[in-house]
Amino acid sequence: MRQGDLHTHTTASDGTFSPSENIKRAIEKGLNAIAITDHDTIEGIEEGMAEANKHDNFECVPGIEISTLYEGQDIHVLGYFIDYKDEKFLSTLNKLSSVRDQRNKMILKNLNGLGINIEESELEAKRHGEGNVGRGHIAEIMMDKGMVNSLPEAFEKYLGKGKPAYAIPDRISPIEAVKIIREAKGVPVLAHPGIYDADELIPILSENGLAGIECCHPDHTIEQVKYYEEIAEKHALIKTAGSDFHGFRNGEVFHGDIGSCSVPLDTLDLLKKCCK
Ligand SMILES: [Zn+2]
Ligand SMILES: [Zn+2]
Repeated sequence: MRQGDLHTHTTASDGTFSPSENIKRAIEKGLNAIAITDHDTIEGIEEGMAEANKHDNFECVPGIEISTLYEGQDIHVLGYFIDYKDEKFLSTLNKLSSVRDQRNKMILKNLNGLGINIEESELEAKRHGEGNVGRGHIAEIMMDKGMVNSLPEAFEKYLGKGKPAYAIPDRISPIEAVKIIREAKGVPVLAHPGIYDADELIPILSENGLAGIECCHPDHTIEQVKYYEEIAEKHALIKTAGSDFHGFRNGEVFHGDIGSCSVPLDTLDLLKKCCK
């Protein structure tokens, strides 16, 4: 069956593969579609679309993953088939990106307080063009400098939620993210609900324009996949799936490899029908 992976990151945010490399890997894996869903940026989309056009029967879905804050939790909202040239949408993304930079500064300051010195310039050096930098890059620097032995260690000891260098600035709410995506003619989907403790959000967001939930994600257990599929059916939401591919860092794959979670292409048609 023809399949697509609806959640991948590129060098435009914290992935290590360029958008074209993601497309090529997806084709190698036998997929017929992937979405480029970088954190708070659309910088990778054009390259992905151009690469997809070179291949028959392959579609690149223009997407985004917006970071929001709800009850102290970092909640991600995916947007598909967005009008990524919409001026209002682009100016909103600019604002989100400055919040992301503010967060990085807070994290570096916390690390400094723990005697771990990373300069802002070192983080800037990890930025690709107009793309975004974030915790994944900070973890990479910590590993480069021998401060930790692995990327998971950086998150487990310092950068993960509740760990000593963790910081989260004031952000937009998930409801606002749903609205921003709808205004850009996109389809909002709640990313990896299994990694939050916020299921009560699902009916609230669904009343406010949410179109789907990411039921299959590499960080979900089989039971969670089933559970979220049932919730999706209950609220008439589209069931999506994605690997959350971030490329490889020191041979390790974060979340999953491209295609490790995928949807039949019919799901793409369902999403397209939700575009305004
Ligand atoms: Zn996410
Ligand atoms: Zn992601």
